[in-house]
Amino acid sequence: MMVFNNEYSMLINGNQVPGEKTFGVVNPATENTIASVPDASHEQLDAAVAAAKAAFPAWSARPISERKELVAAIGKCLEDNREEFSRLITLEQGKSRAGSDFEIDLSAGWCRGVAKYDLPVNVVEDSPERTVEIRHTPIGVVGAITPWNVPILIAIWKLAPALLTGNTVVLKPSPYTPLATLKLGELLRDILPAGVLNIVSGGNELGQWMTDHPDIGKVSFTGSTETGKKVMESASKTLKRVTLELGGNDAAIVLPDVDPKEIAPALFWGAFFNSAQVCVAAKRVYIHEDVYDAVAHELVEFAKTVTVGDGSQQGVDLGPVQNQMQFEKVKSLLSDSKKHGHRFLLGGEPGEGKGYFIPISIVDNPPEDSRVVKEEAFGPLLPLLKFNDIEDVIKRANDTLTGLAGSVWSSDPKKAREIAERLETGTVWINEILFFSPDAPFSGHKQSGVGAEHGMEGLLEFTNTQTITSKKLEMAS
Ligand code: NAD
Repeated sequence: MMVFNNEYSMLINGNQVPGEKTFGVVNPATENTIASVPDASHEQLDAAVAAAKAAFPAWSARPISERKELVAAIGKCLEDNREEFSRLITLEQGKSRAGSDFEIDLSAGWCRGVAKYDLPVNVVEDSPERTVEIRHTPIGVVGAITPWNVPILIAIWKLAPALLTGNTVVLKPSPYTPLATLKLGELLRDILPAGVLNIVSGGNELGQWMTDHPDIGKVSFTGSTETGKKVMESASKTLKRVTLELGGNDAAIVLPDVDPKEIAPALFWGAFFNSAQVCVAAKRVYIHEDVYDAVAHELVEFAKTVTVGDGSQQGVDLGPVQNQMQFEKVKSLLSDSKKHGHRFLLGGEPGEGKGYFIPISIVDNPPEDSRVVKEEAFGPLLPLLKFNDIEDVIKRANDTLTGLAGSVWSSDPKKAREIAERLETGTVWINEILFFSPDAPFSGHKQSGVGAEHGMEGLLEFTNTQTITSKKLEMAS
């Protein structure tokens, strides 16, 4: 196991490279600056892209079996250094150590899952006249841009399929959470050939330079819908391929046949895991009026058993909100609810003192058009809403510009399934939330995204389709 030091550098062409300038990273639980990291210049981005471009011919020509081994080795590296990665994620992101352990375990398993895949070759015609074959070739240099909520897992969601399919990568973590990602680069320097993976850190401008860069062929982006639109606009200038995984305002629909006590823990974690900073967290919970009071009661009772605090402390389940900007956003939603007289079943007042702490806050049946219902809080503030008619609740659930995921809770699988099929979202969970698998495509409908990640569908987004037709010549006898 490698001993981590407190220096952070970028990975460019197999070298650890400092920045000409640096910027600070803040621990959201204490508001202390805990590290300074390189702020990449445009020239350094150019060097990273040039290294990735130069590494592409040899990397893409390697047998896929070798690339699979190396993708699996990334997982092993995460596993071997689990303790330190987990410590760093908690320090920079704020989530509990259990949450960070979970992120590393899932990331390591993900690499193994992706490493099972082969690229398909489909023969769609094999007639006396010709054969027609569909194959898939890598795109070239992939620019991967990640957000601050789940920094390592989302990086792996991009790296593993991009590298497996034969692309080389330039990865940029969020400026709020670059530490674990830069450390990953440090360790992978000894595992991957120079230039195959490059990691650069910097602000939003660096992301924009990547989407503008003529030698990047595809951008795989996870972040807000607002930024996703800018990425698409900028990528259009060079017709880059884009995969966009963006925001959502996911509805959970709870039918009257549930056992409130039984579903409360899973529903709670589906809404509040990672202090609700999850793109697919339940952000509006619609509960049938027959069980509304009972489900609300069980959720509140369960919430009271959950400890909010500095994620690095033992016994803490939920950490702070990750950064000041998000903290202010959640506070403004809290005060809007208070201004409009919404009743809080729990919480409602932001924490005092250091750290971006918001207590678990649950709002009792606010109006459908209130900000707390219409806006993605991306923080521990959850509206519970009453319904009594299935058609009405489906309409309310779908009445949004986004369509990332949703969930249905019922003891009747057939009824739940009928409702699931009518939700306008890329994923629908029944009686659970947050189940992810390397084999299950994940995509956003409407303004929640473009394209898909995971599974064969996600893998093929890192490739070009190539059709080879071969006319069978009649040989003169
Ligand atoms: P963000 O859009 O502010 O930033 C995401 C990344 O984009 C960061 O690395 C940032 O530096 C970079 N960036 C910013 N401006 C850019 C530009 N003009 N061009 C290129 N890159 C740019 O998002 P965030 O605040 O880090 O993340 C929170 C949002 O992400 C939430 O809306 C959440 O729902 C969404 N999210 C979606 C998924 C998903 O898979 N759909 C997963 C996690 C988070």
